[in-house]
This record gives sequence, C-alpha cells and structure tokens, in this order.
Amino acid sequence: MCHPLSHPLWQDLTPDEIRALAANDAVAVLPLAAIEQHGPHLPLSTDLDIGIGLAAAAFARLPATTPACLLPPLAIGLSLEHRDQAGTLSLSAETALATLTEIGASVARAGFRRLVLFNSHGGNKSVIDLAALKLRANHRLLVVRANYFRFAPPPDALPASELRHGLHGGALETAMMMHLAPHKVRHHAIADWPSLGLEMAANGKLLGPEGEAGFAWMAADLNPAGVTGNARLATAELGARLVDHFAAALARIITDTHDFDFARLAPDCN
Ligand SMILES: [Zn+2]
Repeated sequence: MCHPLSHPLWQDLTPDEIRALAANDAVAVLPLAAIEQHGPHLPLSTDLDIGIGLAAAAFARLPATTPACLLPPLAIGLSLEHRDQAGTLSLSAETALATLTEIGASVARAGFRRLVLFNSHGGNKSVIDLAALKLRANHRLLVVRANYFRFAPPPDALPASELRHGLHGGALETAMMMHLAPHKVRHHAIADWPSLGLEMAANGKLLGPEGEAGFAWMAADLNPAGVTGNARLATAELGARLVDHFAAALARIITDTHDFDFARLAPDCN
C-alpha cells in the first residue's frame, strides 16, 4: 500500500526507524472514522472503509520527497446522532477528545512536529477542532484538520442539492463504497432518502440542519430511515472518480503540511 521507505505504516516500524522519520520531519497522518449505521444498504464500517481507502490512495500518490507515515486508524468516533440505530458504536465527546490529544501527545513525544487529522465522519468535526488547538497550544505541533467531505468535489460529479443535503448514506458515500468495497453494498436496498434540509431549502429557509444557521440533529430528524441523500445516483464509476479526486487533494495537503515553514508561526509556539 505504501512506499516501504518513505511512506510506511507507523505500527510496522521500530523505534530507530520512527526516530529517523521524525528527524526527516515526516508528516504523521491519523485517519479518524466511525462505526455507525449507514442505512439498509451500507455497512457500519462505511466511514472507516472510505477513510482507509482515501488514505491508501493518497499515500500511493505521495512523492518520495514528502516523507509521511500512516498511523493506525481510530475506527470508533463520535456518533451520538446515530445512537438510536442498532450497531452504532460511539465514544463520548470527553473520551474522544482525550483519545485524540493523547495520541497526538505520543506522536509529539516521538519527535514529530507535523500531524494531519484525516477525518471521514462529520460527527467528529467539533472534537477534532478542539483537539487540534490543544495539541497546537500544548505540544507546539502543526496540526491540520482535513475533513474529506469539506474538500471541493469534482465539478459536475453530483447535483449541488445532493452534495449539500445527501449527508449520510447518500450518493457520495454509496458511490465510494461501490468502488472501494463493492461486496459490502446491499444493492437491493438502495433508495432515495430526502432530507428535511432539502425541503427547508426548497421553502426558502435560511435555517437548516447545516449551512449558515444549522440546528443540532439526530439522524432520524432528517429522515426517519436515518439516511439522507439519493443513493440511486451512485455508481462504481462515480465512486472511482470521487476517490481519485479526494485522494489527490489529501496527497497535496500532506505535501503542503510537510513543506510548511514553521518560522511563519508565532515564535513562542514553535
Ligand atoms: Zn458516513
């Protein structure tokens, strides 16, 4: 999966090899995911499969001049909004914040200064923001918050309304799963699950579940099935295009993180 010398898996290395990578100012990349319901057509592992798939594809693209290391993924995240559907595993916000900051502190202790938190689950965003700032303040790390679903999508890949409202188990995630793990997709159960947000936007409301002014939501608030989006728009070809596009963006972000000049940050904190 990764270049054996410049792009290894963290857990495959020895202490001497970790020290050598840190001395080379390598970037540590931590995939953050979730194990949670994604409707009747996708497995609980959807966010984990997408996160690992995108990270692997990004590492395959990294130039040898960008030393980087992939940490073991944090499979379970913050999934309070999916608590009411069977199979969801969730940490509390307090536990997730402690876990992230303790892993980051371990990475800093190993001599790394550059950490990318690569996230594939929307519910993790707020705790990642907090953990990143704590690690910046307390360990002087450069911490990058990279949520793939915030990356600009390929133009014309999907209708704007699906990109905005198909937040969970819709066309985007279903397509990437058709490409990355087709044996896990229950094709017979694929359907269209419109979001309450779509209806509110159609009625001209500024208020919605996300966007300018969003309300906190449980998954079944947006659609009783706990899924939002039109999975019927998904194809494996679209999934391949999305994976390629998001992986290219992640590879660029890792390279930018490696190339970032620490002298540009406040001197007391670097
Ligand atoms: Zn998901």
